[in-house]
Amino acid sequence: YSRSSCMKLMPALLAAATIGSFNSALAQEKILNLYSARHYQTDEALYANFTQQTGIKINRIEGKEDELLERIKNEGANSPADIFLTVDAARLAKAHELGLFSPVSSKVLESRIPAHLRTEDWFSFSTRARVIVYNKLSVKPEDVQNYADLANPKLQGKFCSRSGSHPYNLSLMASIIAHQGEAKAEELARGMVANFARAPKGGDTDQIKAVAAGECGVAISNTYYVARLLRSTKAEELKMMERVGIVWPDQSGHGAHINVSGCSVLKTAPHRETAIQFLEYLASDQAQRYFADGNNEWPAVDSVKVANPGLEAMGKFKADKLPVKNLAMYQTKAQIIFDRAGFK
Ligand code: FE
Repeated sequence: YSRSSCMKLMPALLAAATIGSFNSALAQEKILNLYSARHYQTDEALYANFTQQTGIKINRIEGKEDELLERIKNEGANSPADIFLTVDAARLAKAHELGLFSPVSSKVLESRIPAHLRTEDWFSFSTRARVIVYNKLSVKPEDVQNYADLANPKLQGKFCSRSGSHPYNLSLMASIIAHQGEAKAEELARGMVANFARAPKGGDTDQIKAVAAGECGVAISNTYYVARLLRSTKAEELKMMERVGIVWPDQSGHGAHINVSGCSVLKTAPHRETAIQFLEYLASDQAQRYFADGNNEWPAVDSVKVANPGLEAMGKFKADKLPVKNLAMYQTKAQIIFDRAGFK
C-alpha cells in the first residue's frame, strides 16, 4: 500500500474506533430512554421497581402523543428514544403507520399478552372499556343496553359526548365498523348527532358530571373515569355518582368495546435489548398490577387479578375480543363517518 492511501484510511479507522468505544460505553451505562404520553403518578413505582430489579436507569421524556411522535420523527436516526408508551390503539396505530416501530419477537410477550391485544410491533399492557352512563331519573337502563340504542329517537335531546375526533370515540366507531360495516356505523353516528343534548365538548369526566347534573340523560365514558369518581375521597362526588347508572353495552352481542394502553420498541432504539427486557417486565405479575391498577384499568395478562373497589363496583362484564389491529385498521374510516354525520 502507499503512504497516501494509508493516510486516507486513518481518519475513517479513528472514527470507527471512537464510535465503537462510544457504543460499548452506552451499552454499559444501563439506560433506557422512555418517551411516554401516559402520565399517572402511580407509574413512578412501576419504573422504580424495574430499576431496582435490573440496575437499569429509566430516562423519561413526557409529552403529548403528537409532540412525542413529532420529536421522534425529527430526531430521526439519532433519536435517543428506545420506547414509545401511550394510551389508545388509534395512537399506537398512528406511530406504526409512521414507520417508527420495530417488530419484536418475544416468547414472554407472546405467552403473557393475549393474541388480540398485540400486533407484531406493539403490545397492550392494560385494558379499559367504553361504557354507557345514564341519569337514573331521566333515562331507563333498558333503553340504553347497546351502543346502537344511542341512536334511538327515544333519546332525543339527551345524548352527550366528547369530540368525534377524539381517539376514544374513533376507536369505538372503528369497532362498530369492524363488526357491522360502514353503513350501520354511519347510521349510529347520525342517530347520535340527532340525539345531542349539546354540541360535543370536554372530556369523559365532564360528560359524567353533566349526566349527574341532569344536563344530559346519557353519555359514554371510559371505565377508569367512572372508577375514579366511584373511588373519590370527595363526598360531593360520591353523592353525584348515586344519580348515575352504568351499563355494560352489547352484552348479548360482541361485548363492551375495549381500548388499551400500550407500547413498542422504536426502530432507532439505541438500547434495543434493554427495551425488550422492559416490555417483558411490563408483562410480569407485579408490573401488571402497578400498570393497570394505578389508573383503574385491567391487566392485559389474564391470570393477573386486581382487587380494585372502583372496578368491582361496576360489576362483571363481557369484553369485546376484537383484535386491536382491527381498531387501528378502521381509524380513518371512523373519522370520515363522524365528519359526514356532523359529529364534530
Ligand atoms: Fe383518558
